[in-house]
Amino acid sequence: MKIRAAVLERTGGPHAVQELDLAPPGAGEVLVRLGASGVCHSDYNAIDGTAETRCPAVLGHEGAGVVEAVGDGVVRVRVGDHVALSWAPWCGTCSECTRDLPWLCSTAWPAMGTGGLMDGTTRLSRDGEPVYHYSFLSTFAEACVVPEKCCVPIAKDIPFDVAGLVGCAVTTGVGSVWRTAGVQPGDRVAVIGCGGVGLSALMAAVAVGAEPVVAVDAAPPKLEVARSFGAAAGVLWAGSAEATAEAVREASGGGVDYAIEATGRSEAMLAAYLSLRPRGAAVLIGIPRADAVLPLPALTIPRSERRVLGSIYGSSKPERDFPLTLDLYRSGRLPLDRLVSHRLPLDEVEQAFALMKTGDALRVVLDLTT
Ligand SMILES: [Zn+2]
Ligand SMILES: [Zn+2]
Repeated sequence: MKIRAAVLERTGGPHAVQELDLAPPGAGEVLVRLGASGVCHSDYNAIDGTAETRCPAVLGHEGAGVVEAVGDGVVRVRVGDHVALSWAPWCGTCSECTRDLPWLCSTAWPAMGTGGLMDGTTRLSRDGEPVYHYSFLSTFAEACVVPEKCCVPIAKDIPFDVAGLVGCAVTTGVGSVWRTAGVQPGDRVAVIGCGGVGLSALMAAVAVGAEPVVAVDAAPPKLEVARSFGAAAGVLWAGSAEATAEAVREASGGGVDYAIEATGRSEAMLAAYLSLRPRGAAVLIGIPRADAVLPLPALTIPRSERRVLGSIYGSSKPERDFPLTLDLYRSGRLPLDRLVSHRLPLDEVEQAFALMKTGDALRVVLDLTT
């Protein structure tokens, strides 16, 4: 079938909306007519080369839509189901899957790098030449073919823009607090970086009864937003990790149990670590450059049992966590719709990235129904 999609021709961009061929879903694959796609910093990392990405590619990994067709053997979804898309399919047989860590699947991660689906081949093409997928999804398009395990059925009253965000930013942030860290009521939490991911972590910390929750950002307007989501205090980035951490320790009554780091910058990671009280953990969820390093004051690690926890996709299981997160959205305990600051049509994808770079947007969503 023919679809319109935003194609990134090469690293550096720009995007061009073009007509592509989309092959029908193979065995274990699903064709999804997309309703909306969030625009994530990881997409930008693919554009600017921070994350090496095979081109030409259709980016986008934060989408939701309606199942239009299924390939042989598909059992998880049916035609007509509404689905939120996960970018973390799993094989079920590798050592990580066997240890019940499907988000770390050692089959899926290398497959993602090929720009294909789980078998390494692509369903997208242009004049007979391959166009590559991004994170198994490629949601900057009218429709996509994805592995069955990327599809999580959702209730039909959930807006596609909210469901899409649950596919990446929300799950990354919420899961880091609930699943990776296991924050308990009364734990002190700091969130460094108040974009879509950080605000999701903040909402999750507030919802679970963390006290206080301290927001940290370099932009005063983001701190105002964080307060409106329930942060007890806002700390403006103070120019260095040490000075910022000191302000967080002061605002939290002596250091936090968990510092969630959502920017991917080494300095902010160090600030997260230095913000901890004894036994506290820095939870690193922002994606740094491949060559970044993180020097820590080593003596403080054994002496105060401070810890560093990595977290990818919030250590989450989409089939369990997407419906839970959306139930809590519906009941008002996770006001996820407030993350959507801008809605644009697919043709304005370049404008979406421009908005992201200004820092004025929370989450920009492409409305793919127009
Ligand atoms: Zn993302
Ligand atoms: Zn696996």
